[in-house]
Amino acid sequence: MTDTIYPTVIVGTGPGGLTAAIYLARANMQPLVIEGAEPGGQLTTTTEVENFPGFPEGIMGPELMANMRKQAERFGAQFRTGWVTNIDMSQRPFVVTIEGAGQIRAETVIVSTGASAKYLGIPGEAEYVGRGVSTCATCDGFFFRNKRIVVVGGGDSAMEEANFLTRFASEVIVVHRRGEMRASKIMQDRARANEKIRWSLDSTPLEVIGDGNSVKGLKIRHNATGEEEIIEVDGIFVSIGHTPNTAFLDGQLKIDDLGYLLVEPGTAKTNVDGVFACGDVQDRRYRQAITAAGSGCMAALECERYIENNGIHV
Ligand code: NAP
Repeated sequence: MTDTIYPTVIVGTGPGGLTAAIYLARANMQPLVIEGAEPGGQLTTTTEVENFPGFPEGIMGPELMANMRKQAERFGAQFRTGWVTNIDMSQRPFVVTIEGAGQIRAETVIVSTGASAKYLGIPGEAEYVGRGVSTCATCDGFFFRNKRIVVVGGGDSAMEEANFLTRFASEVIVVHRRGEMRASKIMQDRARANEKIRWSLDSTPLEVIGDGNSVKGLKIRHNATGEEEIIEVDGIFVSIGHTPNTAFLDGQLKIDDLGYLLVEPGTAKTNVDGVFACGDVQDRRYRQAITAAGSGCMAALECERYIENNGIHV
């Protein structure tokens, strides 16, 4: 363990973590930001962001995140790459364990670890991840030029991914477990207007079919008739939502029934004094870049106040 005690360690670099970093760095609080396996968070796996205020023509997700990172660095935020495996909150300062890089101490912590893509959990799925099964159209769409693809899901992400994948694919089939979509009307309308998209609604995915090397199809059941069908495709993009990343906290922070961190309503305060949360890891309801950024600002301001009130030396 190093002798340094950091006033604040921010875990996670999505819009929540980076906004907290911008505010704290600009207030001269010298935050240390730990960047995990997906620097920039979910927006780095998306295409154009059209609803982040200030960009009338839209901005690409990765560019928006790179800008936020630069902005935090400009004010002196320090970045370190690493995978946080534990934060011991039973002692003060808190002890943050980083895989393969030892431990560091922090007076306050901001948890902004976001949420990770969910999988269907059907036979064949895990076997073919990276060989036709993907949860990231932006990352993998390119590999499916002139191929047929299934997108599973009925939310905004599924609509966005289906539309994006038509840039490459010859045909995209949306498989959704209900007859009605969860996606907003504008996103649905866009997908429905796309001639390359076909629909298989009210269908349950049963099994990923492959030849040992790569995906060959998706077996589904048509719920209304009980009939089973194999849709022959080369790619399956699973777009069924996300799970908040809280496992490394070992139950030290309170969570809700879906695993999202609980904060005191209207604040970024968790149940442990000096530990704050922002972004999707604590937001089961909105899960937008702008709400994540807003909550990052709240976490930073709470953190500043905590540092001042407790006479913590910065
Ligand atoms: P979501 O809204 O939670 O939708 C998940 C979809 O996957 C639902 O249609 C759900 O079906 C389906 N699903 C979940 N578990 C499943 C399972 N085990 N098997 C089969 N299907 C399953 O998630 P999201 O689309 O990722 O969106 C997350 C949030 O981000 C939302 O608030 C969304 O509005 C927002 N978002 C916005 C934009 C945009 O505006 N540009 C783009 C992307 C995302 P049911 O409908 O039957 O539950």
